[in-house]
Amino acid sequence: MMANMSREARSSTSEAIEMDEEEVMLHGAESGWVEARTYCDHLSSLSSDLRLIPPPDTCCFRCDHPAENWLCLCCKEVFCSRFVNKHMLEHYHLKGHCLALSYSDLSVWCFICDAYLDAQVICQLRTVYETAYVMKFGESPPVRTIERMQFEENSAGTIS
Ligand SMILES: [Zn+2]
Ligand SMILES: [Zn+2]
Ligand SMILES: [Zn+2]
Repeated sequence: MMANMSREARSSTSEAIEMDEEEVMLHGAESGWVEARTYCDHLSSLSSDLRLIPPPDTCCFRCDHPAENWLCLCCKEVFCSRFVNKHMLEHYHLKGHCLALSYSDLSVWCFICDAYLDAQVICQLRTVYETAYVMKFGESPPVRTIERMQFEENSAGTIS
């Protein structure tokens, strides 16, 4: 009770700083958000059938943790995150399966690249991303304007 009171007595500024730290932990960079990679050399290990995947509320196969798990994109098993019991990380070390999709935010992580992958740009990942999105939200993902952004970047850098 006392702890709660003193926490609430603190200014909202300290709350904002705590959130920033969480953001840095999640995305692994000093500056906050990291651009997801648009390529990865390890896509040959992807499961050949990613149209049929377990639902997003599937529990961790090892510890039954119920939420925010990762789907192994190589064997379609489900494991908990590095913030729970690290079973996805353990699975990577045991089996060498390096590609995983987060059921909490649908980001795709490559353990070998040590980076997030852009599942909407990498065509081998788009199907499973869209399947997971529909299962999680009940509708198709919104169309992104990435092509246009890239075009503008390219034309800005072109020597005329
Ligand atoms: Zn990779
Ligand atoms: Zn687990
Ligand atoms: Zn696996």
